[in-house]
Amino acid sequence: MSGEEKSAPSNFIRQIVDQDLASGKHSAIHTRFPPEPNGYLHIGHAKSIVLNFGIAEDYRGLCNLRFDDTNPQKENVEYVEAIQKDVRWLGYDWDGRLFFASDYFEQLYQFAVELIEKGKAFVCELDYERMRDYRGTLKEPGKNSPYRDRPIAENLDLFQRMRAGEFPDGARVLRARIDMASPNINLRDPVLYRIRHGVVHHQTGAAWCLYPMYDYTHPISDALEGITHSLCTLEFEDHRPFYDWVLDNISIGCHPRQIEFSRLNLEYTVMSKRKLTQLVSEGHVEGWDDPRMPTIAGLRRRGFTPAAIRDFCHRIGITKAENRVEMSVLENCIREDLDAQAPRRMAVLRPLKLVIENYPEGRIEALEVANHPKDEAQGMRKVTMGREIYIDRADFTEVAPNKQWKRLVTGGEVRLRGSYVIRCEAVVKDAQGEIIELRCSYDPATLNANPEGRKVKGVIHWVCAATGVRAEVRLYDRLFTHPTPDAVSGSDFTYLINPASLEVLTDCLVEAALAEATPETPFQFEREGYFTRDPKALGLVFNRTVTLRDSWAKLEQQP
Ligand code: ATP
Ligand code: MG
Repeated sequence: MSGEEKSAPSNFIRQIVDQDLASGKHSAIHTRFPPEPNGYLHIGHAKSIVLNFGIAEDYRGLCNLRFDDTNPQKENVEYVEAIQKDVRWLGYDWDGRLFFASDYFEQLYQFAVELIEKGKAFVCELDYERMRDYRGTLKEPGKNSPYRDRPIAENLDLFQRMRAGEFPDGARVLRARIDMASPNINLRDPVLYRIRHGVVHHQTGAAWCLYPMYDYTHPISDALEGITHSLCTLEFEDHRPFYDWVLDNISIGCHPRQIEFSRLNLEYTVMSKRKLTQLVSEGHVEGWDDPRMPTIAGLRRRGFTPAAIRDFCHRIGITKAENRVEMSVLENCIREDLDAQAPRRMAVLRPLKLVIENYPEGRIEALEVANHPKDEAQGMRKVTMGREIYIDRADFTEVAPNKQWKRLVTGGEVRLRGSYVIRCEAVVKDAQGEIIELRCSYDPATLNANPEGRKVKGVIHWVCAATGVRAEVRLYDRLFTHPTPDAVSGSDFTYLINPASLEVLTDCLVEAALAEATPETPFQFEREGYFTRDPKALGLVFNRTVTLRDSWAKLEQQP
């Protein structure tokens, strides 16, 4: 991690860690990040990654990467690989401690045998519907399964035969034997194992037809790895008694403490993997790494930096309060990071031709322009000036709409960034009355000098026609028109997709230096925003990472 980065602010979990170290409960801290490989990581996962790996880093402890792979039907290796890539890109390393819950299938099985031997688990034959009926409700206690008091020997025999593949899917499950009257439904004899024939697990292949449930697998995996603090999101709060029950009832010498914190919710996007999968599979976006997606891969392709994402995770903090964070918080993080580091370039997104009539024909001048206005160390670059240039259509109007207008108007003057002051003398229109060209003059005395006897306030960007390079620019906006597409009723949320979330500009003109741009270097296109070269597109294509200002806050963008 870079030395300049601000350290993570404290939070209630770090306070618990402090206490556990001070009291001697632990001498070293060990956390883990446990993704299920059933989709790509998103910015919500980043919150958990920064928390888990960040604590390990700051307390000189360890953090494992562990795949929670107990549900092979929805998981695959593409996700296993993408997740590792994204965690690394965010700046974290598990130092070889990469684990899979499936690594523990044999041990998990043996612990289940132990539970059976202690009379704490039984094989149940109730089908799914009846098991649900027996479970009771929040107000009413459940009823004991008729299979609950089977002799231990029979349970052991049946469980072994479940493993051997003697029974079809759904015919039997292994259940914990706890308390059907518990006010906590998670303790009403929860299922520990289910039968799944015919699925090929991405790690264990066809070795198993018996799969452990997540709630049973998780505490044991944590304990086997010597995790001290098992950090998870709030929806697991009601599962904590079962987490503790499992570890209290098997012979294992480690009992991690589960601590819950609230999930990150972001406005104008969705975060559930089911919904993100739907966006991809139904073709609403280009893929998991579509720059409009809240995925780490999408944010990376859009030009976000790991430092900005870590900064965001620090700013939103860790609490138990449910909340929804405004997109502008994330955007401000990347703006600040890029403002400090991104070299400046000129790019004209909607070109309008401009001919400087008193500039000598055929003359090309190399001007020196600073790469960064606040960082001299970034040096200078050459930008060529010629008789024909392009400016943005938005920077010209025939008659100024108001007194604040500082850009070019007929008869008015403006400075070309890093170059001369020009005056618009005449406008050329086509048969439809559309402006196709501006005829201008320039003041040769104004290079690096103020004009004599008058003030020119406006500065606009431009690109030389002779040396400029054609490029495509993709402008992104919110993916949804609604701040909480997750929360609207009904399962189909896709009608809330913003039809203007992607605008493609195909005949932009960028300064020559951008022809060699790589996806690793973000740029500020002067007066337009921050951009980065798309890593997948074949030609010269730039993605807009973020605008210069929060356009949703309706701030007038100044020249
Ligand atoms: P989903 O419900 O979308 O499938 P998940 O929580 O099941 O997400 P996992 O792969 O199991 O996804 O998540 C791995 C870890 O990341 C878990 O510890 C989980 O609590 C955490 N996590 C997932 N989403 C968020 C979020 N929005 N904010 C904070 N942490 C999250
Ligand atoms: Mg999960």
